[in-house]
Amino acid sequence: MKKAEIGIIGGSGLYAMPGLTDVHEEKVETPFGDPSDAFVLGELEGRRVAFLARHGRGHRILPTELNFRANIYAMKMLGVERILSVSAVGSLKEEHKPTDFVMPDQFIDRTFARKSTFFGNGIVAHVAFGDPVCATVSASFQKACDTVGVVGKSGGTYVCIEGPQFSTRAESNLYRSWGADVIGMTNLQEAKLAREAEICYATMAMVTDYDCWREGHDDVTVDQIVAVMHQNSANAEKVVRAAVAALPKEKACACGDALKYAILTDRKAIPAETRQKLWLLLEKYL
Ligand SMILES: [Zn+2]
Repeated sequence: MKKAEIGIIGGSGLYAMPGLTDVHEEKVETPFGDPSDAFVLGELEGRRVAFLARHGRGHRILPTELNFRANIYAMKMLGVERILSVSAVGSLKEEHKPTDFVMPDQFIDRTFARKSTFFGNGIVAHVAFGDPVCATVSASFQKACDTVGVVGKSGGTYVCIEGPQFSTRAESNLYRSWGADVIGMTNLQEAKLAREAEICYATMAMVTDYDCWREGHDDVTVDQIVAVMHQNSANAEKVVRAAVAALPKEKACACGDALKYAILTDRKAIPAETRQKLWLLLEKYL
């Protein structure tokens, strides 16, 4: 049964989704373990949505500890076809100021301690990832920023680090030399797994600070970040709601067919257990 059409993953600064009606909570168990928290299901702007607090309510889970696979698989189980993700990031460019929202269209992977695929255990699949986010979902975020009056910027490269520590100055400068725009700890695995699950995904990265590269300014303190996060969080609530409203009902992207040519394994060679575990992803193709 399809319980939600749109998934919302709230990060640092967005722990709940105000304005939901017909609300109920649902604990979802997945073949990959437990998601970060119970899902809050409800209606927003006339659409069925499922909200998940990425770090759990109360912010209890480190980026490295996040069960990204369970979070995304649970979305699939709920019937979600598009995910709007929100996260807090540091800026790697002068022009991206604290309280700006950036919709990255590229990622650089600097993580090393995370499970980033549903495949393995007898099945091999390689999804295309040249365009790692869904342009339609991203455009809805941009439209929503414009509607609400928040500075929103489409495009840019997100460096995903392992954390939980922020980067060193040498690292921050290295990422700047690569031309990256923002730095965060959570979005890349979500984008990879959503692609494997054939779910549209885009993220809105809310700038909280300038990381530590900016000379002549103090290094980032937690206090400064928290103050900006309060404003970002108020803006995020409005923008996400407007993005849900702006999301076209018809799909014109290829996200929903990501696995069409990706599975290399001879169908007969896929072990029964793996087949069962990944049934929601594989049923179209077996
Ligand atoms: Zn899409």
